[in-house]
Amino acid sequence: MKFRENTKKTGRSTRPVRARKTKRANTESNQNVRKVLNIDFDVSCMTAFKKLGLDTPILRALKTLKFEKPTSIQEQAIPYAIAGKDILAGSETGSGKTLAFGAGIIQNAKSRAGVQALILTPTRELAEQVSSSLKVFAQTTRLNITAIYGGVSINPQIRNLTRTEVIVATPGRMLDHINRGTVKLGNINTIVLDEADTMLDMGFIRDVESIIRACPKKRQTMMFSATLTDGVQKLSKKHTMNPVKLFTKSSVDPKKLTQIAYNTSVNLKFSLLAHLLKNEESELAMVFCNTRRNTDRVTKDLNYVGIRAKAIHGGLSQDKRNKVIQNFHSKRIDVLVCTDVAARGLDIQGVSHVYNYEVPIDSNQYVHRIGRTARAGKEGKAINLILKRDQRKFSKVLSDNALTVAKEKAPYVERAQLRETQAVAQGYNRKQQFAR
Ligand code: AMP
Repeated sequence: MKFRENTKKTGRSTRPVRARKTKRANTESNQNVRKVLNIDFDVSCMTAFKKLGLDTPILRALKTLKFEKPTSIQEQAIPYAIAGKDILAGSETGSGKTLAFGAGIIQNAKSRAGVQALILTPTRELAEQVSSSLKVFAQTTRLNITAIYGGVSINPQIRNLTRTEVIVATPGRMLDHINRGTVKLGNINTIVLDEADTMLDMGFIRDVESIIRACPKKRQTMMFSATLTDGVQKLSKKHTMNPVKLFTKSSVDPKKLTQIAYNTSVNLKFSLLAHLLKNEESELAMVFCNTRRNTDRVTKDLNYVGIRAKAIHGGLSQDKRNKVIQNFHSKRIDVLVCTDVAARGLDIQGVSHVYNYEVPIDSNQYVHRIGRTARAGKEGKAINLILKRDQRKFSKVLSDNALTVAKEKAPYVERAQLRETQAVAQGYNRKQQFAR
Protein backbone atom coordinates (compact mmCIF):
# COMPACT_ATOMS: atom_id res chain seq x y z
CA MET A 1 0.00 0.00 0.00
CA LYS A 2 1.30 3.41 -0.87
CA PHE A 3 0.70 5.95 1.83
CA ARG A 4 0.73 9.64 1.24
CA GLU A 5 2.07 11.86 3.99
CA ASN A 6 -0.58 13.03 6.40
CA THR A 7 -1.82 16.38 5.30
CA LYS A 8 -3.00 19.13 7.60
CA LYS A 9 -6.37 18.72 9.20
CA THR A 10 -9.05 19.99 6.89
CA GLY A 11 -10.94 22.84 8.49
CA ARG A 12 -14.69 22.86 8.69
CA SER A 13 -16.45 24.83 6.04
CA THR A 14 -17.27 28.26 7.31
CA ARG A 15 -20.11 28.74 4.88
CA PRO A 16 -23.40 29.18 6.72
CA VAL A 17 -25.93 26.47 6.07
CA ARG A 18 -29.13 28.19 5.06
CA ALA A 19 -32.41 26.80 6.20
CA ARG A 20 -33.85 27.24 2.72
CA LYS A 21 -31.03 25.12 1.32
CA THR A 22 -31.73 22.29 3.73
CA LYS A 23 -35.42 22.57 2.98
CA ARG A 24 -34.82 21.98 -0.68
CA ALA A 25 -32.06 19.37 -0.24
CA ASN A 26 -34.24 16.37 -0.90
CA THR A 27 -35.97 17.74 -3.96
CA GLU A 28 -32.75 19.11 -5.41
CA SER A 29 -30.80 15.89 -5.09
CA ASN A 30 -33.61 14.06 -6.84
CA GLN A 31 -33.75 16.71 -9.57
CA ASN A 32 -30.00 16.49 -10.12
CA VAL A 33 -30.03 12.77 -10.62
CA ARG A 34 -33.03 13.09 -12.90
CA LYS A 35 -30.80 14.92 -15.35
CA VAL A 36 -29.47 11.48 -16.17
CA LEU A 37 -32.74 10.97 -18.00
CA ASN A 38 -31.19 12.64 -21.02
CA ILE A 39 -29.16 9.53 -21.81
CA ASP A 40 -30.09 7.39 -24.81
CA PHE A 41 -31.87 4.41 -23.44
CA ASP A 42 -32.04 0.90 -24.77
CA VAL A 43 -33.43 -1.73 -22.43
CA SER A 44 -32.43 -4.72 -24.55
CA CYS A 45 -29.30 -5.36 -22.48
CA MET A 46 -31.48 -5.28 -19.37
CA THR A 47 -33.45 -8.41 -20.28
CA ALA A 48 -32.51 -10.29 -17.14
CA PHE A 49 -33.80 -7.46 -14.94
CA LYS A 50 -36.86 -6.97 -17.14
CA LYS A 51 -37.77 -10.63 -16.74
CA LEU A 52 -38.07 -10.07 -12.99
CA GLY A 53 -40.93 -7.65 -13.63
CA LEU A 54 -39.08 -4.35 -13.40
CA ASP A 55 -40.45 -1.57 -15.55
CA THR A 56 -38.74 1.11 -17.60
CA PRO A 57 -37.97 3.84 -15.03
CA ILE A 58 -36.00 1.54 -12.79
CA LEU A 59 -34.37 -0.25 -15.74
CA ARG A 60 -33.10 3.14 -16.88
CA ALA A 61 -31.53 3.72 -13.50
CA LEU A 62 -29.88 0.29 -13.50
CA LYS A 63 -28.48 1.00 -16.92
CA THR A 64 -26.79 4.17 -15.73
CA LEU A 65 -25.26 2.09 -12.94
CA LYS A 66 -24.01 -0.43 -15.52
CA PHE A 67 -25.57 -3.34 -13.62
CA GLU A 68 -25.48 -6.21 -16.10
CA LYS A 69 -27.43 -8.93 -14.36
CA PRO A 70 -29.28 -9.41 -11.11
CA THR A 71 -27.50 -10.89 -8.13
CA SER A 72 -28.86 -14.11 -6.63
CA ILE A 73 -30.95 -12.38 -3.95
CA GLN A 74 -32.32 -9.91 -6.52
CA GLU A 75 -33.29 -12.75 -8.85
CA GLN A 76 -35.11 -14.52 -6.03
CA ALA A 77 -36.67 -11.59 -4.19
CA ILE A 78 -37.64 -8.94 -6.77
CA PRO A 79 -40.68 -10.75 -8.25
CA TYR A 80 -42.09 -11.35 -4.73
CA ALA A 81 -41.20 -7.83 -3.60
CA ILE A 82 -43.08 -6.33 -6.56
CA ALA A 83 -46.05 -8.65 -5.92
CA GLY A 84 -46.32 -7.41 -2.33
CA LYS A 85 -45.43 -10.77 -0.70
CA ASP A 86 -43.84 -10.94 2.74
CA ILE A 87 -40.20 -12.07 2.62
CA LEU A 88 -37.69 -13.49 5.10
CA ALA A 89 -34.27 -13.49 3.46
CA GLY A 90 -30.91 -14.70 4.69
CA SER A 91 -28.76 -12.26 2.85
CA GLU A 92 -25.85 -10.11 3.87
CA THR A 93 -24.53 -6.70 2.93
CA GLY A 94 -22.81 -6.80 -0.41
CA SER A 95 -25.32 -9.29 -1.82
CA GLY A 96 -27.34 -6.57 -3.55
CA LYS A 97 -30.20 -6.74 -1.05
CA THR A 98 -30.95 -3.00 -1.19
CA LEU A 99 -32.19 -3.33 -4.76
CA ALA A 100 -33.87 -6.63 -3.85
CA PHE A 101 -36.26 -4.88 -1.44
CA GLY A 102 -35.96 -1.40 -2.97
CA ALA A 103 -37.14 -2.37 -6.47
CA GLY A 104 -40.63 -3.31 -5.26
CA ILE A 105 -40.91 -0.17 -3.14
CA ILE A 106 -39.82 2.15 -5.94
CA GLN A 107 -42.01 0.48 -8.52
CA ASN A 108 -45.15 0.42 -6.36
CA ALA A 109 -44.93 3.76 -4.55
CA LYS A 110 -46.83 6.76 -5.89
CA SER A 111 -45.46 10.25 -5.92
CA ARG A 112 -47.17 12.72 -3.53
CA ALA A 113 -49.23 10.00 -1.86
CA GLY A 114 -47.61 10.28 1.57
CA VAL A 115 -45.16 7.95 3.26
CA GLN A 116 -45.70 4.49 1.80
CA ALA A 117 -42.56 2.59 2.78
CA LEU A 118 -40.46 2.44 5.92
CA ILE A 119 -37.06 0.76 6.01
CA LEU A 120 -35.48 0.30 9.43
CA THR A 121 -31.70 -0.15 9.71
CA PRO A 122 -29.60 -0.70 12.85
CA THR A 123 -26.99 2.01 12.26
CA ARG A 124 -26.96 5.58 11.04
CA GLU A 125 -24.31 4.75 8.45
CA LEU A 126 -26.44 1.99 7.03
CA ALA A 127 -29.49 4.29 6.91
CA GLU A 128 -27.40 6.79 4.94
CA GLN A 129 -26.01 4.07 2.65
CA VAL A 130 -29.42 2.50 1.95
CA SER A 131 -31.11 5.86 1.31
CA SER A 132 -28.31 6.93 -1.07
CA SER A 133 -28.66 3.68 -3.01
CA LEU A 134 -32.45 4.02 -3.18
CA LYS A 135 -32.12 7.63 -4.42
CA VAL A 136 -29.99 6.35 -7.28
CA PHE A 137 -32.38 3.48 -8.08
CA ALA A 138 -35.27 5.98 -8.01
CA GLN A 139 -33.45 8.65 -10.02
CA THR A 140 -35.88 8.48 -12.93
CA THR A 141 -38.98 8.72 -10.75
CA ARG A 142 -40.50 11.56 -8.77
CA LEU A 143 -40.17 9.76 -5.45
CA ASN A 144 -38.49 11.39 -2.47
CA ILE A 145 -36.40 9.25 -0.16
CA THR A 146 -35.52 10.54 3.30
CA ALA A 147 -32.94 9.26 5.75
CA ILE A 148 -33.93 9.68 9.40
CA TYR A 149 -31.40 9.07 12.18
CA GLY A 150 -30.17 10.51 15.44
CA GLY A 151 -27.07 12.58 16.16
CA VAL A 152 -28.16 15.31 13.72
CA SER A 153 -30.72 18.13 13.93
CA ILE A 154 -34.34 16.96 13.88
CA ASN A 155 -35.84 20.08 12.23
CA PRO A 156 -34.77 19.46 8.61
CA GLN A 157 -36.04 15.90 9.05
CA ILE A 158 -39.44 17.18 10.22
CA ARG A 159 -39.68 19.33 7.07
CA ASN A 160 -38.59 16.51 4.76
CA LEU A 161 -41.05 14.08 6.33
CA THR A 162 -43.95 16.18 5.04
CA ARG A 163 -43.04 15.46 1.43
CA THR A 164 -41.45 12.05 1.33
CA GLU A 165 -42.73 8.73 0.09
CA VAL A 166 -39.96 6.48 1.44
CA ILE A 167 -38.26 6.66 4.85
CA VAL A 168 -35.00 4.91 5.74
CA ALA A 169 -34.59 5.21 9.50
CA THR A 170 -32.81 4.02 12.60
CA PRO A 171 -35.31 2.89 15.26
CA GLY A 172 -34.57 5.49 17.98
CA ARG A 173 -35.07 8.63 15.87
CA MET A 174 -38.03 7.09 14.04
CA LEU A 175 -39.76 6.47 17.36
CA ASP A 176 -38.96 10.03 18.38
CA HIS A 177 -40.78 11.33 15.27
CA ILE A 178 -43.73 9.02 15.94
CA ASN A 179 -44.00 10.24 19.53
CA ARG A 180 -43.78 13.90 18.44
CA GLY A 181 -46.43 13.31 15.78
CA THR A 182 -44.10 14.59 13.06
CA VAL A 183 -44.61 11.64 10.73
CA LYS A 184 -47.84 10.28 9.23
CA LEU A 185 -47.86 6.51 9.08
CA GLY A 186 -51.41 5.91 7.80
CA ASN A 187 -50.38 5.27 4.17
CA ILE A 188 -47.49 2.91 4.91
CA ASN A 189 -47.94 -0.31 3.00
CA THR A 190 -44.37 -1.71 3.16
CA ILE A 191 -41.98 -2.23 6.06
CA VAL A 192 -38.44 -3.54 5.64
CA LEU A 193 -36.25 -4.66 8.54
CA ASP A 194 -32.72 -4.50 7.20
CA GLU A 195 -29.93 -6.36 9.03
CA ALA A 196 -32.53 -7.73 11.42
CA ASP A 197 -29.92 -9.78 13.34
CA THR A 198 -27.83 -6.69 14.08
CA MET A 199 -30.98 -4.83 15.09
CA LEU A 200 -31.65 -7.51 17.70
CA ASP A 201 -27.98 -7.69 18.79
CA MET A 202 -28.04 -3.95 19.39
CA GLY A 203 -31.10 -4.19 21.61
CA PHE A 204 -33.55 -2.39 19.31
CA ILE A 205 -36.25 -5.04 19.56
CA ARG A 206 -38.66 -2.98 21.70
CA ASP A 207 -38.30 0.14 19.56
CA VAL A 208 -38.75 -1.90 16.38
CA GLU A 209 -41.88 -3.55 17.73
CA SER A 210 -43.36 -0.22 18.87
CA ILE A 211 -42.76 1.21 15.39
CA ILE A 212 -44.31 -1.79 13.66
CA ARG A 213 -47.35 -1.58 15.96
CA ALA A 214 -47.81 2.10 15.04
CA CYS A 215 -47.98 1.21 11.31
CA PRO A 216 -51.05 -0.13 9.47
CA LYS A 217 -51.64 -3.88 9.90
CA LYS A 218 -52.41 -4.39 6.23
CA ARG A 219 -48.97 -4.20 4.70
CA GLN A 220 -46.07 -6.06 3.17
CA THR A 221 -43.20 -6.90 5.54
CA MET A 222 -39.74 -7.87 4.32
CA MET A 223 -36.95 -8.97 6.64
CA PHE A 224 -33.34 -9.22 5.54
CA SER A 225 -30.70 -10.62 7.84
CA ALA A 226 -27.11 -11.88 7.43
CA THR A 227 -27.81 -14.69 9.88
CA LEU A 228 -31.23 -16.24 10.53
CA THR A 229 -30.89 -16.60 14.28
CA ASP A 230 -33.70 -17.85 16.55
CA GLY A 231 -34.43 -14.24 17.47
CA VAL A 232 -34.84 -13.27 13.81
CA GLN A 233 -37.13 -16.25 13.12
CA LYS A 234 -39.22 -15.34 16.17
CA LEU A 235 -39.53 -11.74 15.00
CA SER A 236 -40.52 -12.95 11.55
CA LYS A 237 -43.23 -15.24 12.97
CA LYS A 238 -44.69 -12.31 14.85
CA HIS A 239 -44.67 -9.73 12.08
CA THR A 240 -44.81 -11.45 8.69
CA MET A 241 -47.60 -13.45 7.03
CA ASN A 242 -46.58 -16.65 5.22
CA PRO A 243 -43.27 -15.15 4.13
CA VAL A 244 -41.34 -16.63 1.23
CA LYS A 245 -38.05 -17.79 2.67
CA LEU A 246 -35.02 -16.98 0.58
CA PHE A 247 -31.37 -17.80 1.14
CA THR A 248 -28.28 -16.77 -0.72
CA LYS A 249 -24.74 -17.94 -0.55
CA SER A 250 -22.30 -15.62 1.16
CA SER A 251 -20.97 -12.88 -1.12
CA VAL A 252 -17.58 -13.54 0.44
CA ASP A 253 -15.84 -16.17 -1.65
CA PRO A 254 -13.97 -18.50 0.75
CA LYS A 255 -11.60 -19.45 -2.07
CA LYS A 256 -10.58 -15.81 -2.44
CA LEU A 257 -10.21 -15.16 1.27
CA THR A 258 -6.91 -15.89 3.01
CA GLN A 259 -7.05 -15.94 6.81
CA ILE A 260 -3.84 -15.63 8.78
CA ALA A 261 -3.01 -15.46 12.49
CA TYR A 262 0.27 -14.01 13.78
CA ASN A 263 1.28 -14.54 17.36
CA THR A 264 2.75 -11.36 18.73
CA SER A 265 3.69 -9.67 21.99
CA VAL A 266 2.32 -6.66 23.82
CA ASN A 267 5.43 -4.66 22.93
CA LEU A 268 5.40 -5.42 19.23
CA LYS A 269 1.73 -5.66 18.36
CA PHE A 270 1.27 -2.10 17.12
CA SER A 271 4.61 -2.21 15.28
CA LEU A 272 3.54 -5.41 13.51
CA LEU A 273 0.27 -3.78 12.44
CA ALA A 274 2.08 -0.72 11.09
CA HIS A 275 4.64 -2.94 9.31
CA LEU A 276 1.92 -5.02 7.64
CA LEU A 277 -0.09 -1.96 6.62
CA LYS A 278 3.00 -0.48 5.01
CA ASN A 279 4.30 -3.62 3.33
CA GLU A 280 1.30 -5.70 2.33
CA GLU A 281 0.23 -5.22 -1.27
CA SER A 282 -3.22 -3.78 -0.59
CA GLU A 283 -6.03 -1.40 -1.46
CA LEU A 284 -8.17 -0.29 1.48
CA ALA A 285 -7.76 -1.81 4.92
CA MET A 286 -10.04 -2.02 7.94
CA VAL A 287 -8.59 -2.47 11.43
CA PHE A 288 -11.00 -3.73 14.09
CA CYS A 289 -10.64 -2.86 17.78
CA ASN A 290 -12.99 -3.77 20.60
CA THR A 291 -13.32 -0.36 22.27
CA ARG A 292 -13.69 3.25 21.19
CA ARG A 293 -10.65 4.17 23.24
CA ASN A 294 -8.36 1.71 21.52
CA THR A 295 -9.80 2.66 18.14
CA ASP A 296 -8.75 6.28 18.77
CA ARG A 297 -5.33 5.28 20.04
CA VAL A 298 -4.47 3.00 17.16
CA THR A 299 -5.60 5.71 14.73
CA LYS A 300 -3.47 8.37 16.39
CA ASP A 301 -0.43 6.13 16.41
CA LEU A 302 -0.91 5.07 12.79
CA ASN A 303 -1.11 8.73 11.80
CA TYR A 304 2.06 9.35 13.77
CA VAL A 305 3.95 6.70 11.79
CA GLY A 306 2.71 8.22 8.50
CA ILE A 307 -0.31 6.08 7.68
CA ARG A 308 -3.51 7.78 6.50
CA ALA A 309 -5.97 6.31 8.98
CA LYS A 310 -9.22 7.57 10.51
CA ALA A 311 -11.30 6.21 13.35
CA ILE A 312 -14.99 5.45 13.32
CA HIS A 313 -17.00 4.56 16.41
CA GLY A 314 -20.19 5.45 18.22
CA GLY A 315 -18.54 8.21 20.27
CA LEU A 316 -18.03 10.49 17.26
CA SER A 317 -20.60 12.98 16.03
CA GLN A 318 -22.73 11.78 13.15
CA ASP A 319 -21.30 14.46 10.84
CA LYS A 320 -17.82 13.20 11.55
CA ARG A 321 -18.82 9.56 11.04
CA ASN A 322 -20.43 10.37 7.69
CA LYS A 323 -17.36 12.32 6.59
CA VAL A 324 -14.99 9.48 7.54
CA ILE A 325 -17.08 6.93 5.63
CA GLN A 326 -17.21 9.22 2.58
CA ASN A 327 -13.43 9.71 2.68
CA PHE A 328 -12.85 5.98 2.97
CA HIS A 329 -15.26 5.27 0.08
CA SER A 330 -13.44 7.77 -2.09
CA LYS A 331 -10.04 6.41 -0.96
CA ARG A 332 -8.91 9.71 0.56
CA ILE A 333 -7.92 7.61 3.55
CA ASP A 334 -6.34 4.16 3.32
CA VAL A 335 -7.16 2.67 6.68
CA LEU A 336 -10.41 2.71 8.64
CA VAL A 337 -9.94 1.85 12.29
CA CYS A 338 -13.29 0.83 13.70
CA THR A 339 -15.43 -0.79 16.33
CA ASP A 340 -17.83 -3.52 15.25
CA VAL A 341 -21.00 -1.52 15.60
CA ALA A 342 -19.89 1.39 13.44
CA ALA A 343 -18.70 -0.92 10.68
CA ARG A 344 -21.63 -3.36 10.59
CA GLY A 345 -23.42 -3.62 7.31
CA LEU A 346 -21.25 -1.11 5.49
CA ASP A 347 -20.53 -2.01 1.91
CA ILE A 348 -17.21 -0.51 0.92
CA GLN A 349 -15.69 -1.52 -2.36
CA GLY A 350 -12.00 -2.31 -2.52
CA VAL A 351 -11.33 -3.48 1.05
CA SER A 352 -8.48 -5.91 0.44
CA HIS A 353 -7.42 -6.39 4.08
CA VAL A 354 -9.22 -6.79 7.37
CA TYR A 355 -7.07 -6.71 10.52
CA ASN A 356 -8.32 -8.00 13.84
CA TYR A 357 -6.17 -5.90 16.11
CA GLU A 358 -8.20 -7.27 18.96
CA VAL A 359 -9.94 -10.66 19.01
CA PRO A 360 -13.70 -10.30 18.45
CA ILE A 361 -16.07 -11.40 21.21
CA ASP A 362 -17.54 -14.33 19.28
CA SER A 363 -17.50 -16.15 15.98
CA ASN A 364 -20.53 -14.24 14.70
CA GLN A 365 -18.62 -11.00 15.05
CA TYR A 366 -15.55 -12.59 13.45
CA VAL A 367 -17.63 -13.56 10.42
CA HIS A 368 -19.12 -10.05 10.18
CA ARG A 369 -15.61 -8.56 10.29
CA ILE A 370 -14.00 -10.79 7.67
CA GLY A 371 -17.05 -10.35 5.46
CA ARG A 372 -15.85 -6.83 4.64
CA THR A 373 -13.25 -8.27 2.24
CA ALA A 374 -13.02 -10.89 -0.56
CA ARG A 375 -16.22 -9.55 -2.08
CA ALA A 376 -17.43 -9.40 -5.66
CA GLY A 377 -14.85 -11.89 -6.93
CA LYS A 378 -11.85 -10.03 -5.49
CA GLU A 379 -9.07 -11.47 -3.35
CA GLY A 380 -9.03 -10.58 0.35
CA LYS A 381 -6.98 -11.19 3.46
CA ALA A 382 -8.07 -11.34 7.09
CA ILE A 383 -5.11 -10.95 9.45
CA ASN A 384 -5.38 -11.66 13.18
CA LEU A 385 -2.82 -10.30 15.63
CA ILE A 386 -2.89 -12.61 18.63
CA LEU A 387 -1.35 -12.09 22.04
CA LYS A 388 -0.55 -15.06 24.22
CA ARG A 389 -3.38 -14.13 26.59
CA ASP A 390 -5.89 -14.07 23.67
CA GLN A 391 -5.03 -17.48 22.25
CA ARG A 392 -7.79 -19.41 24.01
CA LYS A 393 -10.42 -16.83 23.14
CA PHE A 394 -9.29 -16.90 19.51
CA SER A 395 -9.38 -20.72 19.31
CA LYS A 396 -12.94 -20.61 20.65
CA VAL A 397 -13.98 -18.04 18.02
CA LEU A 398 -12.59 -20.28 15.29
CA SER A 399 -13.89 -23.61 16.61
CA ASP A 400 -17.48 -22.31 16.65
CA ASN A 401 -17.33 -21.79 12.92
CA ALA A 402 -14.88 -24.39 11.72
CA LEU A 403 -12.90 -21.60 10.09
CA THR A 404 -9.53 -22.35 8.56
CA VAL A 405 -6.90 -19.87 9.62
CA ALA A 406 -3.24 -20.38 8.79
CA LYS A 407 -0.91 -19.74 11.72
CA GLU A 408 2.17 -18.03 10.35
CA LYS A 409 5.37 -16.75 11.86
CA ALA A 410 5.15 -12.99 12.15
CA PRO A 411 7.69 -11.03 10.11
CA TYR A 412 10.55 -9.45 12.04
CA VAL A 413 9.67 -5.93 13.10
CA GLU A 414 11.43 -3.21 15.03
CA ARG A 415 9.40 -1.54 17.75
CA ALA A 416 7.76 1.58 16.30
CA GLN A 417 8.92 4.82 17.86
CA LEU A 418 5.95 6.69 19.23
CA ARG A 419 5.83 9.89 21.20
CA GLU A 420 5.80 8.93 24.86
CA THR A 421 4.19 12.27 25.64
CA GLN A 422 1.21 11.20 23.60
CA ALA A 423 0.61 8.27 25.90
CA VAL A 424 1.30 10.22 29.04
CA ALA A 425 -1.01 13.05 28.01
CA GLN A 426 -3.78 10.57 27.53
CA GLY A 427 -3.03 9.11 30.93
CA TYR A 428 -2.81 5.58 29.77
CA ASN A 429 -0.51 2.83 30.79
CA ARG A 430 0.70 1.19 27.63
CA LYS A 431 1.94 -1.96 29.23
CA GLN A 432 -1.20 -2.84 31.07
CA GLN A 433 -4.00 -1.60 28.92
CA PHE A 434 -3.01 -1.55 25.37
CA ALA A 435 -0.88 -3.92 23.43
CA ARG A 436 1.45 -2.39 20.97
P1 AMP B 1 -26.00 -4.02 -1.16
O1 AMP B 1 -25.84 -5.44 -0.70
O2 AMP B 1 -27.39 -3.70 -1.54
O3 AMP B 1 -25.41 -3.06 -0.15
O4 AMP B 1 -25.14 -3.86 -2.52
C1 AMP B 1 -23.76 -4.03 -2.55
C2 AMP B 1 -23.12 -3.37 -3.75
O5 AMP B 1 -23.43 -4.09 -4.94
C3 AMP B 1 -23.56 -1.94 -3.98
O6 AMP B 1 -22.42 -1.17 -4.29
C4 AMP B 1 -24.49 -2.04 -5.18
O7 AMP B 1 -24.48 -0.85 -5.95
C5 AMP B 1 -23.90 -3.20 -5.95
N1 AMP B 1 -24.89 -3.97 -6.73
C6 AMP B 1 -26.13 -4.29 -6.35
N2 AMP B 1 -26.74 -5.03 -7.30
C7 AMP B 1 -25.87 -5.16 -8.32
C8 AMP B 1 -25.92 -5.81 -9.60
N3 AMP B 1 -26.99 -6.47 -10.00
N4 AMP B 1 -24.82 -5.73 -10.39
C9 AMP B 1 -23.73 -5.06 -9.97
N5 AMP B 1 -23.60 -4.43 -8.78
C10 AMP B 1 -24.67 -4.48 -7.95
